[in-house]
Amino acid sequence: MIDVDSMPCFRCGVCCTKYGVRISFLEARRIADRLGLTWTEFVSSYVVQDGPNPESLLLRRNGSACVFLENTGNSVVRRCLIHPFKPSACKEWSPSLYRRDCQEGLARYWGLRVGSSGLPEGPAESLNRFYAFLETLAAEEAKNYPQQPEVNPTVYAS
Ligand code: SF4
Ligand code: SF4
Repeated sequence: MIDVDSMPCFRCGVCCTKYGVRISFLEARRIADRLGLTWTEFVSSYVVQDGPNPESLLLRRNGSACVFLENTGNSVVRRCLIHPFKPSACKEWSPSLYRRDCQEGLARYWGLRVGSSGLPEGPAESLNRFYAFLETLAAEEAKNYPQQPEVNPTVYAS
């Protein structure tokens, strides 16, 4: 059973489709370095300049989602290709069952809603599947994001 105040991100990707992510020039340089890209390559594929300030950058979109959001083979899971070094705005975004975005993902992919107790409610089978999934997250995290993550940025070049 999860604690309502320590809800792990269950990777629905809703927040990564809804919001534009602003990053600083330094963050952009750091991500480009981690991807092994030149600045020119990184800018042309992954960020757009936003406004008159040349240091104000936005992550590009790939269709309706962030350019770094990957659909996995699992229909309920999406993943961030730069998770270990994602922008600070993403790191600071904490999942919560009180958040409308997380509630949306819970409803869309798991058929669950957040009840008055603040916990997921719905059909027992869906609840069981959801909790079983949460238990696998730590192991999945280690598998998907080893110490040196392998990212193929060309797949997402726009
Ligand atoms: S960088 Fe990663 S966490 Fe941030 S919006 Fe894009 S896919 Fe989501
Ligand atoms: S909406 Fe919530 S659960 Fe879904 S990816 Fe974002 S933080 Fe994670």
